[in-house]
Amino acid sequence: MRDMDAQSIVVVGGSLAGLRSVEALRRAGFDGELHLVGDEAALPYDRPPLSKQVLAGDWELERTFLSTHDALADLDVRLHLGDRAIALDSAQLSVVLASGVVLDVDGIVIATGARPRQLDTSLGGVHTLRTQRDAEALRSELLETPSRVVVVGGGFIGAEVAATARGLGHEVSLIEMMDIPFERVLGREVGSVLTDIHRSHGVEVRSGVGCARLVGADTVQQVELTDGSSVDADVVVVGIGVIPNVEWLEGSGLTLDNGVVCDETLLAAPGVVAVGDVVNWPSTRFGEPMRVEHWQNAALSAQHAASRLLQGESVGAYDPVPWFWSDQYDRKLQLAGHTAGFDEFQIIDGDKESRRFAALYGRQGKLTAAFGMNRPRHVMKFRVMIEAGASFAEALAAV
Ligand code: FAD
Ligand code: NAP
Repeated sequence: MRDMDAQSIVVVGGSLAGLRSVEALRRAGFDGELHLVGDEAALPYDRPPLSKQVLAGDWELERTFLSTHDALADLDVRLHLGDRAIALDSAQLSVVLASGVVLDVDGIVIATGARPRQLDTSLGGVHTLRTQRDAEALRSELLETPSRVVVVGGGFIGAEVAATARGLGHEVSLIEMMDIPFERVLGREVGSVLTDIHRSHGVEVRSGVGCARLVGADTVQQVELTDGSSVDADVVVVGIGVIPNVEWLEGSGLTLDNGVVCDETLLAAPGVVAVGDVVNWPSTRFGEPMRVEHWQNAALSAQHAASRLLQGESVGAYDPVPWFWSDQYDRKLQLAGHTAGFDEFQIIDGDKESRRFAALYGRQGKLTAAFGMNRPRHVMKFRVMIEAGASFAEALAAV
């Protein structure tokens, strides 16, 4: 596609990144034919509340919708919801849907996200949490009699579901293979504080062990662990990471490796861009390939990729400072930047004991990340410094 020549664009994936893409394309002045394909039948909705307000019963599912039929009609978007893209030809710029529809277009946005990794079991009472349906199913079990909930995986889903399930009064055990939950993302010190928070709320944290198998007749009754012990369970929630949805792109001519491999501008092939959880692009800022599984990246990458499709390479590299939040109990966590390989860490405000603090991470003399537990303003301040390429010493001097 030549810059600004597009007559028709299809966005595949009807969730946050897909919706933000159609909105950005129209905002940028694209007035051609615009299709939004999504295999979920529902209108685009927001996932963060599913493990928090929805699971806790504070919000109805209705409140999670990100758009309405009227708003999408105003954008003049042709909806193909409940239909699945099964093939893409990057040379011909066409997308084939499971319904048989073939969309020959001038531009394609891939926004197919990711799906939960599953444990191999057919037992009832075992859940993953990604969709509205998942949230409904889990919520209805948690509304029944008090349960023993076992959460497998001490990542974001695990920690948030554990906190919400404790808030509902259930007994909760959290199983994490690493010695300290969250160590990989936040390091040992912050991971330890989080682990203590969960323990002090009554969660049994079993770290350094994995799930060997699930045991039960029709429904799950026990989780056997890799150290030979077991934990009783009425409900199991599996939060062991996600798999990018790229299988439908086999044979498309695109490079697939931990997502859709793009250049630094989010271009996967001429006329094809990828956004959100599914995109794997080289970050100049952090000097390594990045695939970010958080809300803000879905929104920002959609904006950037829309400009890339319409304006060409003059748009430049996509290189934001990643940012995410997580709510657990009454703690609000935020991280800006990228902690991988950090070799410096310092708490700069508050302390671990009060569970209100801000901390900085550095690598090879540079400021790479800022973390806050109930300290949002600090995170925002140092996010700006990361953006500006500040050294760790400059960041400390600015405290
Ligand atoms: P997805 O949301 O995965 O959407 C992709 C869509 O494409 C899906 O609807 C999928 O069904 C569809 N699709 C897949 N394959 C096809 C196909 N072949 N054809 C058509 N459609 C297809 N992030 C934060 O920063 N903070 C939070 O607090 C937070 N909380 C979260 C809580 C939960 C329970 C979950 C699951 C995620 C949370 N996240 C959070 C992460 C955030 O929601 C994701 O980063 C975001 O949803 C990614 O958006 P996406 O549109 O790229 O992908
Ligand atoms: P995740 O954050 O990647 O965490 C998965 C966790 O499970 C990791 O700690 C992982 O350990 C562990 N694990 C992997 N295999 C395991 C096994 N067999 N047994 C026990 N533990 C195992 O993924 P998630 O928590 O499943 O979340 C799913 C997606 O939703 C992610 O994209 C996440 O970013 C997103 N999400 C985000 C938020 C937020 O931003 N607040 C909230 C909820 C969900 P290792 O680290 O050792 O691999």
